[in-house]
Amino acid sequence: MAEAESASTQGARDFIRDIIRADLESGAVQSVVTRFPPEPNGYLHIGHAKSICLNFGVAREFGGRCNLRFDDTNPTKEEMEFIESIQEDVRWLGFDWGAHPTFASDNFQILYDWAEHLIRAGKAYVEDLSQEEIRAYRGTLTEPGKNSPYRDRPVAENLDLFRRMRAGEFPDGARALRARVDMASGNMNLRDPVIYRILHAPHPRTGDAWCIYPTYDFAHGQSDAIEGVTHSLCTLEFADHRPLYDWLIDNLPVPSRPRQYEFARLNLTHTVLSKRRLTQLVQEGHVAGWSDPRMPTLAGLRRRGVPPAAIRDFIGRVGVAKSDNVVEIGLLEHCVREHLNKTAARRMAVLDPLKVVIENYPEDRTEQLEAINNPEDAAAGKRPLDFGRELYIERADFMEDPPRKFFRLAPGREVRLRYAYFITCREAIKNAAGEVVELHCTYDPETRGGDAPDGRKVKATLHWVSAAHAVRAEVRLYDHLFARPDPGAQGPFQDDINPDSLRVRQDCRLEPAAADAGTGQADQFERVGYFCLDPDSTPARPVFNRTVALRDTWAKVQAKGLRKA
Ligand code: ATP
Ligand code: MG
Repeated sequence: MAEAESASTQGARDFIRDIIRADLESGAVQSVVTRFPPEPNGYLHIGHAKSICLNFGVAREFGGRCNLRFDDTNPTKEEMEFIESIQEDVRWLGFDWGAHPTFASDNFQILYDWAEHLIRAGKAYVEDLSQEEIRAYRGTLTEPGKNSPYRDRPVAENLDLFRRMRAGEFPDGARALRARVDMASGNMNLRDPVIYRILHAPHPRTGDAWCIYPTYDFAHGQSDAIEGVTHSLCTLEFADHRPLYDWLIDNLPVPSRPRQYEFARLNLTHTVLSKRRLTQLVQEGHVAGWSDPRMPTLAGLRRRGVPPAAIRDFIGRVGVAKSDNVVEIGLLEHCVREHLNKTAARRMAVLDPLKVVIENYPEDRTEQLEAINNPEDAAAGKRPLDFGRELYIERADFMEDPPRKFFRLAPGREVRLRYAYFITCREAIKNAAGEVVELHCTYDPETRGGDAPDGRKVKATLHWVSAAHAVRAEVRLYDHLFARPDPGAQGPFQDDINPDSLRVRQDCRLEPAAADAGTGQADQFERVGYFCLDPDSTPARPVFNRTVALRDTWAKVQAKGLRKA
């Protein structure tokens, strides 16, 4: 990993790392074991990246181990597609879980045995009340719950019924197994939580072997204990589950004693980070699938050209804390620009082409000029750039009647074509509708390479491509998926979708080297932004995604803040 990056994460101090350091120093644990526990019911998003970087990061920093564990206890929503995408995404982000991932479903038999253990100890019972009745009996935050009439069933009857549940004798929802904790507890999670439910549904991994499944609460901590997890790091919404986590660990013959710690989840402006909502975006057709480059999924960010190092850096800057907050999406974009500025090859591309004819350049001639691949990286070298009589420049770089502060091309004005020559606009040719369709210019052969021997200056340098050599491409320009910073704050979140989140330019012209890029590896199109080749490309028609524009509004906001301060 890059040095700059290890500096930003290795020495990181936060309350989780402080706890781990103290546990190692005191000998409370010999080595640190963590896990990243996704439920395979969707693609990973940038919020998950925070958990991944934390769990795998601390394991790496403290010489421990981190498991990738699928919390696959809810078969109706889980799919192999998600199991595979999650592994691909964690690997892409730069982390390694060793030989193979683990699955809560690997533990279904032990969990079942432990459920019987609780029954035998008088600490679990089979419930006959319906879900609604269970809810009604549970009480409220201000009122204690009421004991179920089935709470005091004899152990033998509980065992018999639980085994028959397992054998498939009862329909879904007819019965459930509940832990016998405390119906008067101030913590609702301790009011005899359901730990097994009947669900006649095939499981992506265990098939038809089971028709009862443990709940998240019964599977999670026990799987931690089975795997020897020392620090079970999860998000704040699980803080209320911790007493139950501990109660189960205390009351079961587990091989090790994990501890749960909670940190704040990542929230980002102009997007949603809930799998339920992301699933809706996909299923309702608001986006073109989980890897749509507008999605905050890791698959979407990858397709958009975001380097994994930029995500790790972003997560490092956000830090790990105990209180919820919302991070500006501009910070993520800033991290992406910073990484790409160092690594991306510079290319010339014209997104909205306007033809330029150099009247005094010989018709049958072309020549090659030299262009620098990356001014930030001398090792990236140079490339030849074709020049000829007909070129394209960006339509927005010409104005027939320019206002005072417009320094680019205009009739009678001279500008520099990057790496090439000074040109002067002699005439704007219009169509019948009065639109400018072509510019006739002259060039100064003495300015080859971009400087005038007589020292005269121009106020603008334009990018351009040679018409004879350029490759046509489709370019997809992305903006925030949601217009509001807080989608859903005032009505259905779908109503806040930005209608301009995708704009497609069909007739862009690229220098050939730009079209040679590998998929997913972003280049800088000079003066325009960072772009990467999309898998939708065909040899005849490359398609590019804008990863991020060049303009760094975040840096501006920061600078303004500094000036004010
Ligand atoms: P969602 O709420 O989007 O459905 P989830 O928590 O149900 O997400 P899981 O697959 O259970 O999704 O998450 C795996 C792990 O990632 C959990 O430990 C969870 O706490 C963590 N995680 C999920 N979302 C975030 C987030 N926005 N920031 C940090 N960690 C997260
Ligand atoms: Mg979850």
